[in-house]
Amino acid sequence: VGGDGSAPAAHLSPPPAVTARLHATHKGSYGDVAVIGGAPGMAGAALLCARAALHHGAGRVFVGFLDADAPALDLQQPDLMVRPWDSLDLADRTVACGCGGGEAVRAAMPRALAADALVLDADALNAVAADTSFQAQLAARGGRGAKTVLTPHPLEAARLLELSTADVQANRLAAARDLARRFGCVVLLKGSGSVIAAPDGNVRINPTGNARLAIAGTGDVLAGMVAARLANGEGSFDAASGAAYQHGAAADAWPVGEALTAAGLASRVA
Ligand code: AMP
Ligand code: MG
Repeated sequence: VGGDGSAPAAHLSPPPAVTARLHATHKGSYGDVAVIGGAPGMAGAALLCARAALHHGAGRVFVGFLDADAPALDLQQPDLMVRPWDSLDLADRTVACGCGGGEAVRAAMPRALAADALVLDADALNAVAADTSFQAQLAARGGRGAKTVLTPHPLEAARLLELSTADVQANRLAAARDLARRFGCVVLLKGSGSVIAAPDGNVRINPTGNARLAIAGTGDVLAGMVAARLANGEGSFDAASGAAYQHGAAADAWPVGEALTAAGLASRVA
C-alpha cells in the first residue's frame, strides 16, 4: 500500500507473457506443474486448472486425480499427463492442489505442503481451515522461504479467518493481509477487484476482470495460471498478480454475445 494508504493496481499494463519461448530452450526450461484434485464427480476442476497451466506457459503439466476411477486422459487436451495422485512425482514441480478436491484432498495435503512451490485453492484451503497441523505446515513453508500462493474466494477466506463472508467482503484488504501474515505466504483474495497480499503487508488490487467470470470453474483456471507463472520462475507476489491480471484481461476481451465458459477461458489465457 502506498504512503497515502491507497493500494496500487497490480499491473496497469499486461505482465510479461510466460508463453514466450527463447531460442535455445526446451520444455524443461519453462517448468513442470503438477495438479492434484478431481475427487469423484469433480474431475473437471482439476482438468481446467491443468489446461490453464499449459495454455499460460508451463513446460509440462501433470494431473494427479484423487478419484481412482477418473479418466486416464483428457481427450480435449491430450498433452496433459494424467495418473492417480499417489503415483505422481512432485519433486521439482510446482504443485497446484485443491481444485475439485472434496474431502479426498486431505490425504494428499502432507505431500502437497512439502512441495517446492505450491498453489492451494478450493478444498485444499478448506482442509487447511479444518486442520491445525496443516496450518502449522503451511506457516512453516513461509519460514523456509518456499513459494506459496493461496487463492481463496471470500467464503474460503472466511473459513480460514473464522469470520463471516460479509466480514471478509467489508474489509477485503485487511482480510487478505491478515491471511498473508498469518501463513507467511501470498494470498490472492478473489472476486470483483481481486486483492493480492504479501506477508510483508504489501497489497495490490487487480484492475481487470468482470462479472462474466462469475461462473463455475473460472477459479480453477486462475489457480493453473498462478502455477504456470511459479513454474516459470516468478516469485509468488508477481505470479499471483500477473495471473490475476491476465485472467481478468482474457474475460474483458471475450467477444460480446459469446458465452464465457471456464473451459473456453482455459484455452485463451496465453
Ligand atoms: P471461484 O470463486 O473459485 O470459482 O473463482 C471465480 C473467479 O472469477 C475468480 O478469479 C474471481 O475473481 C472471478 N470473478 C467472479 N466474479 C467476478 C466479478 N463479479 N468480477 C470480477 N471477477 C469475478
Ligand atoms: Mg473455486
